[in-house]
Order: sequence, then structure tokens, then C-alpha cells
Amino acid sequence: MLRKVTYRHRQIQLPGSPCPAMPFRPALILLLLLLTVSGVAHAGMVDPSARSVELTSHTRFIVTNDEPGPSEVTRLPESRWQKTSDDINLGYTADTYWFRIRLTNDSAQPLERLIELAYPMLDKVDFYALRDNQPELMAQTGDRRPFDTRPIAHRHFVFPVTLPANTTSEFYLRIQTSGALQVPLTLWQNNAFASQSDTQLTMESMFYGVMLVMTLFNLFLFFSFRERAYLSYVLLVGSALLVMAGLNGASFQYIYPDSPALHNYMLLITVPLYQLAMCLFARDYLEMGTRHPRWNRLFLVLIAATAMCVIGAFIFSYDISTRLSVMMAVPVGLANLVAGVAFWMRGDKSARLFTIAWVALLVCALFTVLNKLGIAPSSFMANHGIPIGTSAQALLFSFALADRFNRERKAYFQEKQAVLDAMKNQRETEAALLRASSHHEVTGLPDRSLFERIVDQAISNNESAVTAIFMLHLRRFDDVNKTLGHRHADELLSLFASRINQLVAQTVHAVYLEGNGKDTICVAHIEGVSFAFALQDEDQERLMSQAAELTARFAEPIEFMGLMLELNFVIGASFCEDAGEDAQSMLRHAFIALDQAGVGTSEIAIYQADMNPYSPRRLTLMTELREALRTEGLTLYFQPQVHLSTERVAGFEALLRWFHPEHGFVPPDEFIPMAEQTGLIKPLTQWVLQEALTFCNGLDAVGCDATVSVNISAMNLREPGFCEAVCGLLEKNQVAARRLVLEVTETAAMLDPKRSLAVLRALQAAKVKLSIDDFGTGHSSLSYIRQLPVSEIKIDRSFVMEMDSNQGDATIVRTTINMCHDLGYEVVAEGVENEATQNLLRELGCDYIQGYFLARPMSRTDALKWLEASSWATSSSLTT
Ligand code: C2E
Ligand code: CA
Ligand code: CA
Repeated sequence: MLRKVTYRHRQIQLPGSPCPAMPFRPALILLLLLLTVSGVAHAGMVDPSARSVELTSHTRFIVTNDEPGPSEVTRLPESRWQKTSDDINLGYTADTYWFRIRLTNDSAQPLERLIELAYPMLDKVDFYALRDNQPELMAQTGDRRPFDTRPIAHRHFVFPVTLPANTTSEFYLRIQTSGALQVPLTLWQNNAFASQSDTQLTMESMFYGVMLVMTLFNLFLFFSFRERAYLSYVLLVGSALLVMAGLNGASFQYIYPDSPALHNYMLLITVPLYQLAMCLFARDYLEMGTRHPRWNRLFLVLIAATAMCVIGAFIFSYDISTRLSVMMAVPVGLANLVAGVAFWMRGDKSARLFTIAWVALLVCALFTVLNKLGIAPSSFMANHGIPIGTSAQALLFSFALADRFNRERKAYFQEKQAVLDAMKNQRETEAALLRASSHHEVTGLPDRSLFERIVDQAISNNESAVTAIFMLHLRRFDDVNKTLGHRHADELLSLFASRINQLVAQTVHAVYLEGNGKDTICVAHIEGVSFAFALQDEDQERLMSQAAELTARFAEPIEFMGLMLELNFVIGASFCEDAGEDAQSMLRHAFIALDQAGVGTSEIAIYQADMNPYSPRRLTLMTELREALRTEGLTLYFQPQVHLSTERVAGFEALLRWFHPEHGFVPPDEFIPMAEQTGLIKPLTQWVLQEALTFCNGLDAVGCDATVSVNISAMNLREPGFCEAVCGLLEKNQVAARRLVLEVTETAAMLDPKRSLAVLRALQAAKVKLSIDDFGTGHSSLSYIRQLPVSEIKIDRSFVMEMDSNQGDATIVRTTINMCHDLGYEVVAEGVENEATQNLLRELGCDYIQGYFLARPMSRTDALKWLEASSWATSSSLTT
């Protein structure tokens, strides 16, 4: 059975024939799928070898409204029959048309042929053959009649005919339709029709297949993403599919062959539905609702109008409904295209593919339209423009959706990435903060707690080895601050830190702390100007020799700002004696050892149990000190100070001496801190003051009005009633307040600045002289010292002792002297050990000197004897 047929469409423009649908023609053509392939036409005669004959030129027609019977029609005079032009397209007409086809078979063989009427939408088609001058009804069909009325089951109307040999046969078609009347007629050889039909079927199947897949795929996407644009796309492609299948009769043939009424409705409904879907899709896809309120309003109107047309199909007549749909095609198409272009111009990326899809449809359709209008020749595109355009549009819309989905997903991932980046930044910031919290801000080296943690690990990981901690303290670094300024001093500190780290890291036995990418870090920055590192070795001797080597390298001058600087440092070391010892206590021991370092010749001091104030020796010493104080076991020594310009003895510094019956000489540096810790410092200072004032009276007795300097500890400044006690003693001993000098270290004065300041002011008010001791070793600022009511500054002996050989020391001393003089202080240089230093200090304008070169601290008697014998004393100081 033949199932398919070539679309064949030649419109006949009849001279003077009514053409009521004229204004809608282009749109109608655009909308309806009416395509043909060119046939091979032969005039009059039927060539037996011709596969197909285009029948327009063999066809005549009449239009009637008085409903003549077939016999009447066949007998009408020839003059009534009108000729057709190229195409038979009579537009919308309610009239009944009769068509006559005359075919001559010249050959000696009868010919079996098929007459195809390739326009499936005609309401009623009656086919007659003239037999013995009588019309014989061969078929009564049309799309208002069930499908099985067709002599051949095909979407088009196909009538089998026999053309007897050497005869002219006549056939009649009575056609009545409420839609456009088009009558494309072709005569086919049976097999030619079959093969043509198959080709068509393949092409159409492909078209339906593509559309169906798109519909299902996007339906699936809709259910996945719940985005309305996918649903309106499904509606769009689905309705396009229905329109196509309806127009070319496929749906009638395959879906509802027994319901011509339904078929009719489907045609009326699907076209406006398709338009409705286009508007819905445009609105959803271009997001008019949220982004383009004006366009949204226009599209809502269009949606309402097309929806009315869908409903109208059930209300209005076929004719009106069809015209309405045709009418709507123009605003719908235009609005979509203009919206696409306008959005594109505004930079909406979604609109690009949307517009291209519409242009594709319009361009493809234009081939057909121009061909229908007789402007363009018949061609493949002219014949298939609309289904191709529709498929192209559907495809491009689908790409557009995918593209938009892709962009949205990208945006989503970018957003997500941004969040991830922000989180990463935060983590980095936290890591940096964490690092900062465990690293020194100036040098970036690990801090004490990190150091302790890692060394503890190292100790437990390597129990067989000896672990030693070395604590390096920069001395007099405050002078660097004062000389270079804090910024440069920090730079110098960093430079020094990285240098010692480099040296330590080169040592095989150094305990590794961390790596910062390029450097191995083995040195920690404990506090201020103190650094620490740890060494581990099986052999303690080797470990110490390594430490000594390192110490020597540390001492090498460092180049900074074009200067070769020698930084003065001391090192305290401590060993992990027993398994119970941890880094924290080792560090504390190293700190204690630090106090001893630099006292002798070596910069490095190793912690010994007796250094520890909490060691058993210390504990007994403390009780013994109390005892010594009570039993006059302590002695006060005196060391003279000379005024350089007058070369007179100007004063004596009182220094405590403790000769222990068992341990021998115990240096005040060892027991004073103990006395401070136990509170013994209070009675101790009272005792010293009393002894000093007694000595003062002794000086008076030999006619010397030199002052006596007494060292005051930080604890004394916090003592309530200290000033009153001092004044009481002065009073009691009948010593003028100006004869007493109280020496306070910068650090002591800094400890409790408010309180200290109050006490010192009270003492000043009582006319007691105040002196800043050990100037240059603490961390005080001159601006703070400026507030203190002091009259004298004592440059620490560590700067003075080697100033004759050390240029750096000499510079510091000179700078300090000048600075103090500018600020109105008198300057004492202590630790003068030789004549060269004395001369140097004189040149520098130092006011007073004190040191072993003049005299060592002496007992009261020795001091008085010395005074008698001394050239300094004899020269001028004695007043009689
Ligand atoms: P200081 O106040 O700086 O005392 C000066 C120290 O320098 C003394 O050490 C003295 O013997 C030493 N000295 C003086 N001339 C030279 C010299 O030319 N070369 C060297 N190398 N050293 C010199 P000393 O007597 O061992 O006292 C140590 C510290 O103990 C004192 O330092 C002071 O801070 C403290 N001290 C001593 N006696 C007392 C006291 O009665 N009360 C308080 N609170 N502290 C005291
Ligand atoms: Ca002193
Ligand atoms: Ca001193």
C-alpha cells in the first residue's frame, strides 16, 4: 500500500477569480506547510515513460453556486470551463469548484496511473471518471470524512486511474472546502509515486524525530531544574510538531483516522497554540517578568490574544478561526524578533541565540514565501523552508537554553569560587595571625612557647643525646636604638637574628625549629633582644666546643648602613641534666646563667645549680644573709669618685661586702637580688644608709665634704615611708641632704613609674641628690628619665672599661656625655681601669670618674687612709 506522497503545490491564479484571503496570503503561506517538488510536465499527451506528469495545464475548472449534478457538469459547454494558470490557489472560498482533467493515452497499451491531489486539507473531495460519457463516482473523500473513505491510504488524496490505449480519458473533481482552496495535481506512475513517497517519509520522520527528542529532552530538563523556560520550550516544540503533523495530514492518518472532526479542531487549535508557546517561551527565556516589565506587558497581551484564539477555535467558525490565527502570526513573529534584537543590543547574552533562531526561521520561511509570491524560483529551500526553519529554530532555542544554563552554572560556580576564595583568604589570614602570634614581629623567628614546644619534642625524641639550650642576649642594644633610631635598630636586629640563625642552622647538631620555605629556622626570638637555640649531641664536650665556635662567629662584625658594627652579647647555656628537665626550666636556667656571662672573660656562662636562687645553697644563703645583717657580718666598702676638671675627690660610692665564713666573698650581684626577693632589702638598705652616713661624718672629721652614694633597689622605691626614713637618718646623723646621693637604675625607676616618680620627687624636695645608675644597660627612654628629678647619670662600666680600645664604646660614651650635658645632667663614668680611659674621659668632658684605676672599693678605714694618701685628695679636695 502506498502511504506517502510528494508534496506538490502549484497555485493557479485564476484571472478574475475571487481572492478573499489576499491580505493574509504571505502570512498564510509562511504558516502553512505547502511544499512541492517540481514535476515534469507534458502537454495533453501522457508519455508512458514519464514518471510523473504535472497536471495543471491539463486541468480546467468551473465555480458553481447552484449545485449542479455531475451529469450536468460533464455536459456543460466548453466555453464555461476556465483555464488555470501556473498554480491552482483559489484562496478562501465557500463555493463549490469542479475541476476537469483530460488525458490522452496515445500508446497501444492501457496505462495504470495515480492522480495525486497533494493538499491534505480539503474538506470534501469527490472524484469522478467519465465512462461512456457518464460520470462515475470513483471516490468520495476529504478531511471532513473518515480516513478510510480514501481509495489509497495516504495523507494526500490519491486516486488510481486507468487510461485505456489510444483514448482520451476525462476525470472530474468536485471540491468544497472552508479553508484555502489549493489543488496541486500530479499524475504518477505507481512505483515512482511509491519511491517519492518513501523519500518524503524518511525526511519527515527525521523532522518528527528531532522535534520529539528535543521535546522529551527538555521535558526531562524541566523536571530536573524546575525552570519554566524548559516547559514553554516543550510546549513550543510540541505544538510545532502538532501543527506540522496536522497540516500535512500525518496526524489524521495515524492518530485519529476515524475522527475528521477532531482533526479539524486540532488544526484550528495547534496553530494559535504554537503562537502562544512562542510568546510564553520568549517571555520565560528572556526573563521579561523580572527584567523587562514593558516587554513583559506586551507579551502578556500577545499571550492573552493567542490563548483567546485557542479558545476561539471551539467558538468561532473554521473560517474566522483560521483568519484569526493567520492575523496573529504577524504581531507574534514581529514582537519576538524585535524583542530578541532589542535585548541583544542591550547586551543580554541570552538574546543572541534567541534572535538567531528567529532569523533562521524567517530566512528559511522566506524562501517559501518568495516562491509562493512568484518572486523566487522553486528550489529545495522553497519547498522545505518551513519545516527546516522550524527545526532550526527549535534546535537553536535548545542551544540557547543550554547556553543560558551553562552561563548560569558558570556564574554559580564563580560565585561558589568567590566564596571558596574568601574562605581561603580567611584561612590564610588566620594562619598568618596564628603565625604572628607564635613568631616575633620584628625578626619573624619563632617565639618562646614555640621554641619550648619543639625543644621538648626534640628532648623526648632523642633521649640518648645531651640537649643544651643557649640563650643569647644583646647587651647595650638600647644604645643602638638611641643612636640609629628604632626603625634601623629593628633592621639591625633582624639582620643579626638572620645571621645567627644561618650560623646555627649550619651546625649539624642544631635542633630544627621550622622551615619557612627558603631558610631553615633554628633560632627563636625569646624576648626583646634575647634569642635562643638548642644543640643536641651525644658528646657534651663536642657540643660545647661547637657552641664556642658559634660564639666566636656571632662576634664577627656585622655590616649595616655602611658601618661595621660589633654587637655586644652574652650567652647563658643550660643542659638538660636529667630526664625530668624540660625546655621551660632549661630556658630559665639559661636566663640565670646569662647573669654570669660576660662577668669574666667569657661571653658564655653555663648554668650551675648554685646560680639558681632557688637552689639549696641559695636558700641557706638567704637565711645566712639575714643572720649576717643582724650580727654585723656585712661590711660597707667605699669607692672614690673624682671630679675630673678640679681633680678633687668628690664622692664615694658605698658598696656592700659580705665575707661568708664558709663561701668566702659573696658578690653583691648574687645576694642583692635574693634580698630583694625576700624583702630583706628594706632593713639592708637602712643599714647601708646608716653606715654611709657614719662614713660621711668620718669624712667631715678629716675635712672632706665629698658626697656618699648609696645604691637603692627598685623595692626601696615602692616602700612606703622610704623618703621619711631617709630624711630621719639624715637628721639623726646630722648630715646635710646634699651630701647623700641615691643611685637608682633606669630599670628600677621604670618598674613602677608612678610610685617611683612620687618617691623620687619627695627625695628631691628633701634636697637629696639622685643619680641614674648603669645608664645604657636598661631599656628606659630618655624621655622618661627626663621626668625624673635626677641630677646625675652614671654611664655603665661595661661601656667605659674598654672604651680606650673599642671605638664603638668610645662613641657611645661620647654621645651619652654630650646628650646628658645638653639635658643638664652631670656625668659619672664608672669602671675606669686605666689612665688612657681617664684621659679620654677628660677630653670628652666627663664630669666624674670612678674605677679600679683610682681605687678599688675599700673598707671605711682604708678609704679614709687612701684619702689621706691620695694625690687626688691632696691636690685640692680637702677642706680644712
Ligand atoms: P654598681 O652600682 O654598678 O657598682 C659598681 C660596681 O662596679 C661594683 O661592683 C664595683 O666593685 C665595680 N667596679 C668599680 N670600678 C670598677 C672597675 O674599674 N672595673 C670593674 N670591672 N668593676 C668596677 P660590686 O661591688 O660587685 O657591686 C655590684 C653591684 O651590686 C652594684 O653595681 C650594685 O648594683 C649592687 N650593690 C652593691 N652594693 C649595694 C648596696 O648596698 N645596695 C644595693 N641595693 N645594691 C648594691
Ligand atoms: Ca652604683
Ligand atoms: Ca653602676
